[in-house]
Amino acid sequence: MTEPGTCMWDCVVVGAGVMGSATSLQLVQNGARTLLLEQFCLPHSRGSSWGQTRATRKSYKQEHYARMAAGSNRLWRQVEMETGTKLTVDARHFAWGRPENPILQDIQENLQKVGVHSKLLTNQELQREFPMLRFPGDYVGVSEEGAGLIKADQAVRALQDLFVQKGGCLRDGEAVTGITPGPTVTVVTSERTIQTRRLVLTCGPWTSKLLDGLGLELPLETLRINVCYWKEREPSSHSLQSNFPVFKDEETGVYGMPCFEYPDMMKITRHTGHAADPDNRDANMQADLTFDLRFLSDFVRKFFPGLYDKPSIVETCMYTNTPDGEYILDRHPGHRNIVIGAGFSGHGFKLAPMVGKLLCELTLDKPPSLDMAPFRLDRFTSRKAVSKL
Ligand SMILES: Cc1cc2nc3c(=O)[nH]c(=O)nc-3n(C[C@H](O)[C@H](O)[C@H](O)COP(=O)(O)OP(=O)(O)OC[C@H]3O[C@@H](n4cnc5c(N)ncnc54)[C@H](O)[C@@H]3O)c2cc1C
Repeated sequence: MTEPGTCMWDCVVVGAGVMGSATSLQLVQNGARTLLLEQFCLPHSRGSSWGQTRATRKSYKQEHYARMAAGSNRLWRQVEMETGTKLTVDARHFAWGRPENPILQDIQENLQKVGVHSKLLTNQELQREFPMLRFPGDYVGVSEEGAGLIKADQAVRALQDLFVQKGGCLRDGEAVTGITPGPTVTVVTSERTIQTRRLVLTCGPWTSKLLDGLGLELPLETLRINVCYWKEREPSSHSLQSNFPVFKDEETGVYGMPCFEYPDMMKITRHTGHAADPDNRDANMQADLTFDLRFLSDFVRKFFPGLYDKPSIVETCMYTNTPDGEYILDRHPGHRNIVIGAGFSGHGFKLAPMVGKLLCELTLDKPPSLDMAPFRLDRFTSRKAVSKL
């Protein structure tokens, strides 16, 4: 295999989380000689893509994400076929909340638009469907058939394996420490100096650190997320096998998954967290953890009487949020051959294959498969972005 420092690459991708891995696979499939660099030894648990599962759903208030989810499902199936690995698990999804919550209506409309079978359940129907749960008297729910889980660690590994099988070069334990833009981009790593025609930055919570040296400041917020697992009082009462769904409570932002990762434990957690530097993630975490555990214990006591109200396991992950929750998929405004994929705001994993496709199209100057307007970084120009250009 070619040594990374000895040739001119068509594309270098920085960051081998799910987004960098999916993008690299698309690039190599499109004939680009591609090097994927990861600062830590793989696999690692310091970014956003690690862990056993992520939810896959089309229940989105934005139509473009519902459509991207449909496209991504097709691409995930292709990865499953090519690697011979089952990565996805079918489950129903329920979004629930108060009937006047506009998100529920948007979700139902978008599910219809993308041809997904869904139903609005009245409060009585919800109670009948989930006798083990306790809902507030006015809650209703929107069901989605054909949603589910994706095995996250295995999926990232599958993308990377395919990338390497198709001729890509993956180097882990090699951090990018400097970038000099130009028609040929010079990339300095902890190991060597590399030349490339095009550069893709998919650095998750480290994105701002790399953009700092490229004169670009984006309003990205990095959050530490406490992921909690709650034990069942009666084993298998909230299991995938008993058709228990993935859910999101659209009033509190709490979401959860049926028992799957750890026997007899549901993952139930907040779709938000606490500001943290990814290089110092676990410093000063006690007060934030205490806050989350109190919030989630209250939620579990109220909705899930069949679970113990103290978590048995707490894991940690990172979100990188934009102010509007929309992704950033765009070129650097000063350097067209540098492409940025960032700000996946805690909902990127399921859509990674489509994100990879779109970033690949941007990088190789191909027409985009989707309208890229929601993802442009100039939407922040009235705020704080691009301030150093
Ligand atoms: C707890 C939790 C639950 C989630 N649940 C869901 C869900 O149910 N459904 C869903 O769709 N999404 C979910 N998400 C979101 C999803 O996991 C993320 O959007 C996605 O993983 C983001 O991937 P990424 O590749 O952008 O970032 P990362 O996985 O963080 O990858 C970035 C990589 O870049 C590397 N890197 C950074 N700087 C450098 C450098 N200088 N040199 C070399 N390498 C570098 C990092 O080490 C890292 O490996 C969840 C996220 C979390 C944390």
